[in-house]
Amino acid sequence: MRIILLGPPGAGKGTQAENIKAKWDIAHISTGDILRANVKAGTDLGKAARKYMDEGGLVPDELIIAMMESRLQENDARKGFLLDGFPRTSGQAEALDGLLDRLGLKLDAVIELSVADDVVVKRLTSRRVCGCCGEIYNTEAKPPRVDSVCDKCGGEVVQRDDDTEAVIRKRLTVFREQTAPLIEYYRNKGILMTADATGAKDSVKALLEKSCGGK
Ligand code: AMP
Repeated sequence: MRIILLGPPGAGKGTQAENIKAKWDIAHISTGDILRANVKAGTDLGKAARKYMDEGGLVPDELIIAMMESRLQENDARKGFLLDGFPRTSGQAEALDGLLDRLGLKLDAVIELSVADDVVVKRLTSRRVCGCCGEIYNTEAKPPRVDSVCDKCGGEVVQRDDDTEAVIRKRLTVFREQTAPLIEYYRNKGILMTADATGAKDSVKALLEKSCGGK
């Protein structure tokens, strides 16, 4: 199964991805995670990407497309994949189409996670993540048992640099201007499904089970 999760920051793409991956055993590929790992490791890509990420802007298409061309051809992606945070521009969507054509692959579904801006701001300003294993917490809904310590691995639980209100608002504007047009792009291809991401975490899994027959 090959799926794209499309939605604003804070729509719950990462959480939904973990849910889906657990059921269908496909590769979860998050461009944000790959970029953050590169920033942490100080690679050339990480150095080039950092300033865009810190400001809540998009990393230039050519860097993202090159990164994804190689990632999608790694072994684990053969069993299927779930793209989280990619594509984010029409240039990226067209490049993905070209790559999939060359590889003889097709997308099964694009899932739009729909959520209002004020819900996103509330969610993201209270989001915390483990700097080691990436486990996601929330200061209100799901705090770690011991303050700032990850329940799973004991790593430090921190706030992402781009989860401050000013940067979140910028990321939302970028989403509406550059990424939201992809909703129409995939609707026209007949593979778009929309899930309300305001509440239940199981909504996306249920939607996929219905349309893909639980396979
Ligand atoms: P995310 O974890 O998906 O919210 O991504 C964090 C940041 O990484 C974004 O705000 C962008 O700066 C950058 N980023 C992630 N994916 C992409 C992409 N497909 N295109 C451009 N920039 C991206």
